[in-house]
Amino acid sequence: MQTKLVKIENKPSDDASMEEAAELIKNGELVAFPTETVYGLGADALRPEAAKKIYAAKGRPSDNPLIVHICKYEELLSIAKEVPPQAKKLADAFWPGPLTMIVWKNERVPYETTGGMDTVAVRMPNHPTALRLIEESGCLIAAPSANTSGKPSPTEATHVLRDMDGRIPMILDGGPVRIGLESTIIDLTEEKPMILRPGYITKEMFEEVLGEEVQIDPGILAADITDPSKGGQKPKAPGMRYKHYAPKADLVLIEGATDHVVAKINELVAGGQKEGLRIGVIATDETYHRYQADVVFSIGARTDEDAIAQHLYKILREFDEQEVDAIYSESFKTPRIGQAIMNRLLKAAGYQVLHV
Ligand code: AMP
Ligand code: MG
Repeated sequence: MQTKLVKIENKPSDDASMEEAAELIKNGELVAFPTETVYGLGADALRPEAAKKIYAAKGRPSDNPLIVHICKYEELLSIAKEVPPQAKKLADAFWPGPLTMIVWKNERVPYETTGGMDTVAVRMPNHPTALRLIEESGCLIAAPSANTSGKPSPTEATHVLRDMDGRIPMILDGGPVRIGLESTIIDLTEEKPMILRPGYITKEMFEEVLGEEVQIDPGILAADITDPSKGGQKPKAPGMRYKHYAPKADLVLIEGATDHVVAKINELVAGGQKEGLRIGVIATDETYHRYQADVVFSIGARTDEDAIAQHLYKILREFDEQEVDAIYSESFKTPRIGQAIMNRLLKAAGYQVLHV
């Protein structure tokens, strides 16, 4: 299959490409498209054969459910068995935006879309191209991140092309995404709302809108979710259980005061280089010049957590291209979205952390 990559610039010149993309979705085919979080790989959410194609293209395990993307609040009502009281408040506050709500599904949603679950994940993305594709196709669009299963989520169309070339008919290129981390997932099917995946929208933001306590799935806070013997509890969102986002090289995070971290990383780099290894470092604008590694990437200014989130996946992908043997990274427990950033980075590192 030939994969067509087309630029979308939110101008009248997009009309033909958008029409073609909408037609593909209507016909049960796959289209990758930009959202504000990461690029999604979309198909008609209400057609089992269409949803199945997503799993095949990504190599995704069939028990890992997809997120259904909508462009109007009423579409949530059309696929939910019950709409919990919190849903409207959260939609008013955060939709369109980087928020996914889990609700009980009705019979319109096939189990192929929900990975066999009786609940469904729903999001209204805040991106003109995504909203236009949903609207023009007249479909609800099931879309997980548009990467090959196990790779970092794509934050640019070239990342999608690298993973999906020859596997899907069309990629809409809307340039680099704004947020760079996947949506926050909140489960509204139990008595108390619970965050299943941290993201740009935080526990505090939810609590302010809902006026009630919001829990965080203990399974995602555990030290090492891949190893229950280390006290890890199974996360509730199936996707959070898989080893994820891992670069090809071994990645280790170093935590502590900046001067100690820089010294330790330089020591590890020197040790590795002595053995003939090629070593990469993830630094910040402030520390970038202090490292003597083979490849050093700055993730952004330490004070700019939005930039750190935006650049994380691109850097992990670039290390794969650079063919390094090991990567050492500073850690980024920033005030607001640090939990989401560290959740992704820890998974990429297979939970290897050195404290100095
Ligand atoms: P992705 O869009 O690639 O980030 O994948 C979607 C994420 O949403 C995965 O982590 C899924 O496990 C999670 N998800 C989707 N549907 C559900 C559901 N019904 N219950 C819990 N988690 C879900
Ligand atoms: Mg994903």
